[in-house]
Amino acid sequence: MSIIKAKDLVHEYIRRDEDGNVKMIQTAINHVDMDIEEGSFVAVLGHNGSGKSTFAKHINVLLSPTEGTVWVDGKDTSNPLFTYPIRRTAGMVFQNPDNQIIASVVEEDVGFGPENIGVPTDEIWTRVEESLKSVGMIKYRTHSPNKLSGGQKQRVAIAGVMAMEPKCIILDEPTAMLDPNGRKEVLAAVHELNKKKGVTVILITHYMEEVVDCDRVFVMDSGKLVMQGTPKEVFSKVEELKEHRLDVPQITLLAHELKEAGLDIPEGILTREELVEALCRLS
Ligand code: ADP
Ligand code: MG
Repeated sequence: MSIIKAKDLVHEYIRRDEDGNVKMIQTAINHVDMDIEEGSFVAVLGHNGSGKSTFAKHINVLLSPTEGTVWVDGKDTSNPLFTYPIRRTAGMVFQNPDNQIIASVVEEDVGFGPENIGVPTDEIWTRVEESLKSVGMIKYRTHSPNKLSGGQKQRVAIAGVMAMEPKCIILDEPTAMLDPNGRKEVLAAVHELNKKKGVTVILITHYMEEVVDCDRVFVMDSGKLVMQGTPKEVFSKVEELKEHRLDVPQITLLAHELKEAGLDIPEGILTREELVEALCRLS
């Protein structure tokens, strides 16, 4: 079953002058169809300005379609009656962890969301504990978020979303401001949520290495969905990815170049182990 479905989605940003006349129309999403399976871990890739964040905002009803329809868990996002149920189903994590932390103690920060939607106090504490455990931050529950590293803050932000018990979590370039260690921590935490709790994960990123372990990859360019498939399928098309101004993981590129140079190895190699295996098979 699909948890997110977009049908012929178009989004136009319209700028007006002081008199209300249309000054400029920017088509950020251009007739996109997308289907995301419940329980899957998917990545949305694309160069800057390709429409990724605009798409994410539709899933969270921060925007509504200019044309077409988006359904979250079967609910049409353009129906105002569904706005709050949808926001509880689909939680968002943004790029900058500093903008998402509001309380001065970690556990209060995580409890803020559920408190806001009227979850009873006992239950809030259970959820806070569960969520902090699931992102590996329970031992920091009484710490001040300000003193944490970027990766730790981002994991607290993810715990805050988890405490709302969403079926689906959308992360819009959550690791862009983190160092490599922080990136690994956050990615591991999100994979864990997907595997252990069955939470659907939509990861928006431009780090190719983060995409290798996903179930499905969607590539956007200039508002269009231009490629989709498993990481292996998508990364087999190195030249097409380059046309969309995307790099491929280093190992995949190396394998591609070895193939171009005449070695008999397959396209779409994603890991060092796979490359070693393919090279060993050559002799
Ligand atoms: P991405 O997240 O892939 O970088 P965005 O969804 O942010 O892409 O932007 C897609 C396009 O829409 C870009 O051309 C961008 O300049 C434009 N855009 C984004 N937000 C706005 C806005 N609030 N008003 C006008 N244009 C916007
Ligand atoms: Mg963006």
